[in-house]
Amino acid sequence: MIEIRAYTVSDFIERYLPAQQPRYGIKATVLHHTYRPRAKDYTGPISIDAIRRYHIHNCGWRDIGANAYAAPDGKVYNARPLSWNNYAHAHISKSWSHVPADVRELAYPDRNWLNHHGFGIETIGDFDEQAIDPIPPALEVSLRVLAAVHTRYKLAPERLFLHRDVAYKSCPGNRISREWARREVSKRMEHPDPTIRIVLLPGSQPVACNAAIENGVTRCDLRPLAESLGCEVIADDIAAGTVYVRRADTPAS
Ligand SMILES: [Zn+2]
Repeated sequence: MIEIRAYTVSDFIERYLPAQQPRYGIKATVLHHTYRPRAKDYTGPISIDAIRRYHIHNCGWRDIGANAYAAPDGKVYNARPLSWNNYAHAHISKSWSHVPADVRELAYPDRNWLNHHGFGIETIGDFDEQAIDPIPPALEVSLRVLAAVHTRYKLAPERLFLHRDVAYKSCPGNRISREWARREVSKRMEHPDPTIRIVLLPGSQPVACNAAIENGVTRCDLRPLAESLGCEVIADDIAAGTVYVRRADTPAS
């Protein structure tokens, strides 16, 4: 049995996610709502355990369905690890002709494509009924976690899908549209900082190296910067924690 516990969103993003080893790589995300329990039914870990027991005993699954559960108290629970061969809780059960073209293009003919390549989060709430303006706390948690997953695995907001794209149900609730969900996730993603540019002199040539200022420190990708300076980057020894930068005119030793 996996150990499920409540994390703060930042702990989940900074500790839990980086420790995950996705079996097939993360190429998409899927947003769900639980429908039941509703936000007002949530009573902490007991509610997550009830969902888990339902998935195991009523659905016959190996364990709880999705990869994470976003709660109305602002916490996020870990769930199905990304190292398993089946996750995201998004089997493509609709007939292919009813599946949106963008999903079909990625997944056809694999009905488990999202389960193999997607990260799925369930939001505790019923968004057929519950208003989303202002955004309820559990939904805010889902959007922040999704934004972190999109940033970490370099996924455009357009790689976010709704469960109802692939199954005959309203999940994540009729009040949530794809456009809305993608826009809200995009707002929360870390985008390269458009206010800073690295420019090579002489000639004022801009270097495309994802420059950004984080906590007052300017960071950028090493390889494009080094290569634009006529150097070569040797990262064979990255497991040992060493990256070598060599001037291209230096003979190899
Ligand atoms: Zn769902």
